[in-house]
Amino acid sequence: MLDGVPSTIRIRDGRIDAVEPAGTAESGVPPSASGGEPARSSGNAPPTSPGGERVVDARGLHAFPSFKNGHTHVPMVLFRGFGDDMPLMEWLGKRIWPAEKHLTADDVYLGTRLGVLEMIRGGTTFFNEMYWHRPAIVRAVREMGVRALVGVTVIDVAGPEVLARQKAEVAELVAERRAAGAPPDDPVQLALAPHSIYTVSPPVLEWIGGVAGDEDLLVHIHLSETRREVEECLREHGCRPAHLLDRLGLVGPRLIAAHGQYLDEGELELLGAAGATVVHNPVANLKLATGEIFPYREARRAGVRVCLGTDGAASNNNLDMIEEMKVAALVQKHREVDATVLPADEALAMATTSASAAFRLGNGRIEAGAPADLVLVDFSAPATQPLHDPVSALVYAANASNVHTTICGGRVLMHARRVEGCDEEDIVAAAASAARRLLERAALA
Ligand SMILES: [Zn+2]
Repeated sequence: MLDGVPSTIRIRDGRIDAVEPAGTAESGVPPSASGGEPARSSGNAPPTSPGGERVVDARGLHAFPSFKNGHTHVPMVLFRGFGDDMPLMEWLGKRIWPAEKHLTADDVYLGTRLGVLEMIRGGTTFFNEMYWHRPAIVRAVREMGVRALVGVTVIDVAGPEVLARQKAEVAELVAERRAAGAPPDDPVQLALAPHSIYTVSPPVLEWIGGVAGDEDLLVHIHLSETRREVEECLREHGCRPAHLLDRLGLVGPRLIAAHGQYLDEGELELLGAAGATVVHNPVANLKLATGEIFPYREARRAGVRVCLGTDGAASNNNLDMIEEMKVAALVQKHREVDATVLPADEALAMATTSASAAFRLGNGRIEAGAPADLVLVDFSAPATQPLHDPVSALVYAANASNVHTTICGGRVLMHARRVEGCDEEDIVAAAASAARRLLERAALA
């Protein structure tokens, strides 16, 4: 079913080739998503049509665009449940930062595999990432078959050598990208990820804005997440955070600002007029008790593109975009004392079409010509019956376990809740053991 209509979705070369009413397909295959990719699994493989193409029987399932997670630190799944219910600065100072000092590239690789596995199982095929050991993240993304915008994380509070290393990494990756002709279909894209205005100095932010402009790269930054950030910015720079970024040349359509709970109307107007994106992370904001709830209504009024993210699993504690859609809708209704605010279809758009526009992934719809990034959802469970409205069921009643099939770039990553081409048990066990060893090294276990 697509928009309530039994349909056949044809996929070729990673894109949707056609969407037809069920029963009109030449091969007479059932209402399905059919792809040109050969099945990668044997035992449980879905049937293959006479033409040799893979056929996914989607009868009884509902197709939606796959979810795009707009703000993540995926390897932080290693810290899931490690230091909950603590004040933000105490949690960072006593738990996260001491553990991160001991983090290796291998830990990041194993953590990313676990996080991506969780995302595939929840219907997410793209994430916007900011973390350390970029090559280890890229390796896991390519192996698992999803898409990601993987930023080079930049901070300059860790000393000049660290900053010099980050600048060298940017130069090297920019040169590589130029040599490759910046392939737009590459599932891994390069971004610049200055951590925040309080960990990156104005001259370095200005340099990042220049590189982003010259190379047409997206810039991913935490912005206006806490009252303290705004107060310090006013004291040190005489303006609010978004205006500081504007002064440094960073406000424009390439800007992806995470959080933004403390953005005021003037800042939202600036961001909206510039075509910038704000990624709302309601669960992490609520869990860390950052105070304000994101001003969604004001942001929409100002024309800001708003997407949705989970943030890291250490502050969420999962990467479930279905849960994130529901919480986003609920907190805005509560904030406005108005149940009509942020209806289910808008929550779905934040996680799909808005994100696709922000992250240059096409229009995010299931239609001919679009990238074949989609999910098939099974609403047959008691918790999602009876089915009056599939979008309502998805946003308000479903969870990750309702996702039956996940397809990215035409490749079936999960079918019938089985992730293909990888050993799920091994991924889970390897990450758990890496997390245990990491905490032992940091003497935090
Ligand atoms: Zn974050």
